Amino acid sequence: MRPLQNFQNKVLRIITDKPLYTRITQLHEETDLPTVREFFDHVSSNFYEKQCQASELTKNIIKTRERHIKKIDAVSLYTNIPTQLVPQILEEKWHLIEKYTDLPKTEFIEAVQLTLGTCYFQYEDEFYQQIDGVAMGSPVAGAVAQLVLEYFEEKVLLNSSYRITIFKRYVDDCLIITTEDQIKEIMEVLNNLNNKLKFTLETELDNKINFLDMTIIRENNKIETKMLRKTINSDRILDYNSVHNIKQKKAIVTNYIDRAIKLTSPRYRPEILNQISSLLATNNYPQEMINKTIKQRTHKFYNSLSYQNPKTEPIVYIPLPYIPTLSEKIENIIKPYPNIRIAHKPVIQVNQLFSRLKAIVPKGQKSHIVYEIPCNQCNGVYIGQTEQNLNNRIKGHKYSKTQTALYKHTIENNHTFNFENTRILDREKNKRTREFLEMICIKRNPNSINDRTDINGLNKIYSTIIKKTAENDNERRRRVTTTPT
Ligand SMILES: [Zn+2]
Repeated sequence: MRPLQNFQNKVLRIITDKPLYTRITQLHEETDLPTVREFFDHVSSNFYEKQCQASELTKNIIKTRERHIKKIDAVSLYTNIPTQLVPQILEEKWHLIEKYTDLPKTEFIEAVQLTLGTCYFQYEDEFYQQIDGVAMGSPVAGAVAQLVLEYFEEKVLLNSSYRITIFKRYVDDCLIITTEDQIKEIMEVLNNLNNKLKFTLETELDNKINFLDMTIIRENNKIETKMLRKTINSDRILDYNSVHNIKQKKAIVTNYIDRAIKLTSPRYRPEILNQISSLLATNNYPQEMINKTIKQRTHKFYNSLSYQNPKTEPIVYIPLPYIPTLSEKIENIIKPYPNIRIAHKPVIQVNQLFSRLKAIVPKGQKSHIVYEIPCNQCNGVYIGQTEQNLNNRIKGHKYSKTQTALYKHTIENNHTFNFENTRILDREKNKRTREFLEMICIKRNPNSINDRTDINGLNKIYSTIIKKTAENDNERRRRVTTTPT
């Protein structure tokens, strides 16, 4: 599987013209293509924010004493997701999806099926293909789980007359407040929808149940919440005396306090904030700083409508090694530029401790390459691939009279090629992969003089990404060349 992953990474890297690797998130940003996950989010309506506010829950009133808090949980969700249902669901919800994609329906569904169907595991020396469910940790797994569960949820909740005080779901964690009779019925329907995916029920104990990062407490006819700290949590966090930027330490304090305020109802807030305060103090954070932050953040919580920031220019992060006092000075210098921020990174990284051991091969001696030769008279470039070394391949181009696009360009336009400035675009040992990379390079470059039939083998899914990134690149180039200096 490794070679396959390397290959895919390589393809994406070349398509986007990145020197080392490309982050998927960045790819999506640059091309304006939503992720599969975002597609599913458009389709989904009842999906619940994990970081929800206590105030959302506490406003509910439980009318009768018979209603209890329950939690519905899917049994081994990821391995039991009936993926066969996915095409059918996408088909039914296509009217919601089509606004967000250039792909036609059949290809979109095919692409999703491809991602779901090509999951492999290695155990010792054997490879196994996943047949049931989705792989845990795969970025689409959560989205698919969400899609299927919502489909189930609609089948159960929308088509009935259940009287439910609260229903909240985060992936497979459902919080529900209703009567004993009704929950019995709901569980029966849920467990008969599919023969693989089953659900279990958890009932409140002493009027309490843990849900996500909160403990939900039923008190008379009201709901109270408390931020939940996992019992396995050690009380060790970044020590205040550690050599780190003060901003990082402040951010830790703010994060803890914000979470506590957000997830705890006012009745229990002093208790939880006390716990957080002593956790921070144990790790040497000054009491004054803690108290001040609690005051500030509580004020902010009640006095701003939300934490939403107005949309502004995207922020650019510059990674720099953290050096005490110097880093702070640099930060002061860039302060007038609100869109530029510095991301501090540790000075030494493991790979820097080892020296480079490989000798560098001169350009002309490199073999198994994809290369680009510019024309002397026009903007055209010829893109080719070869297993020979570059010097030999150039000799071939100079003296042979075969019907390559390079030869045709020379004859038809009476142009010559600048062989000295040949650029190596990539290196790849495998012939088929190299041919594929060549196709991408041709497709990406609007000035390539290669025959269009050279790129017939390129899949449509890749073409869309290439088209979008190439447009962005050209736009950037245009802006750079027209900006007066
Ligand atoms: Zn030319």
